[in-house]
Amino acid sequence: MIKINRPETPNINIYTEKTKSLSLELRTNLLKLIAEDAVHFQGFVSRLEDENEMFTKAEEETLEAINYYADPANFKVEGKKAPSFTVYKDKELKEKIRTVFNDKCAYCDSKFLANSNADIEHFRPKKAFNPFRDAVDEKLIEPGYYWLAADWHNLLWSCILCNRKSNLDQPNVEGLKPLGKKNRFPIAEETKRIRSHNQDLDTEKDILLIIDPCVDDPDDHFVFPVNEEKDVGIVKAKVLDDNKPSKKGEISIALYGLNRTKLVADRMEAGLDLKSIFMGLLDSIEAFSRKKNAGEDTSEEIEKFKFQKARFQSKMKETSDYLSFKKMLLEDFKNFSQLQRLGLTIEGLLK
Ligand SMILES: [Zn+2]
Repeated sequence: MIKINRPETPNINIYTEKTKSLSLELRTNLLKLIAEDAVHFQGFVSRLEDENEMFTKAEEETLEAINYYADPANFKVEGKKAPSFTVYKDKELKEKIRTVFNDKCAYCDSKFLANSNADIEHFRPKKAFNPFRDAVDEKLIEPGYYWLAADWHNLLWSCILCNRKSNLDQPNVEGLKPLGKKNRFPIAEETKRIRSHNQDLDTEKDILLIIDPCVDDPDDHFVFPVNEEKDVGIVKAKVLDDNKPSKKGEISIALYGLNRTKLVADRMEAGLDLKSIFMGLLDSIEAFSRKKNAGEDTSEEIEKFKFQKARFQSKMKETSDYLSFKKMLLEDFKNFSQLQRLGLTIEGLLK
């Protein structure tokens, strides 16, 4: 996982084009459902009072969801259908999200598009959530965070294995375990969970037990052992100042399945690849200076150097996979005697 700097909500049709009018009944009902001290929806009050006001697709869907989910009695009315959530599937929106996440999964940082479709993932589950206390699955609780189904800040680009639940194996763990996020959304204090569109979401942010790469810096919670051969490719929770492993790190690894066997193997492969390219690059530099000092033709070495340097740099581009892990490997490469002998720095080679 890598920190993502999410830009503000994009100016795309679903968020900007006001094409939807709301019925008088819906507007009247919504005015009763928006509390006077509501933080996020107060701006809608005057708009709902104006019968000529039009709404965007995202707003319409959100308001319909509030109208249904804010009253749990609605779940029990026979024949009353829950409104469907479709705005997050909008093509233009999907394209924006893909770009923000550099074509990589928000959780495992892998490039998976060659072999699989992507899921648009809701960080906070929209219809119902699984409290996942003590990393144990529980019965789903309704409603979920229904007012965030079309919210730009709640949507991530994810691979299917991180987003859905599957029984998978992990190194050093016996048997298959249900891994993947699905509706799991654990927080440290269940009584403080935000359950309504009228409450301020910010009050929940310090008690979340999983990492949102658009908010947290995953590097504060994860560590990749690069010196112990048997553990290369595995991610562990970082030990924090209190000498305990990061709880957020531990739970995120378990919930997203960040140590599923095939992912660990792929990460290890990417690490070996980076190491071999880096060593090839140093060799080409060494061969160049040897020939130069001997007064020999260096054109072949210059070509090799250019090629290896471009490959090395491409492996560290923001669109490349497993960047946190690879950055940690680079820290280790700094100790290579060949690098020091040549008087070079990793930063210099990446320029
Ligand atoms: Zn993933």
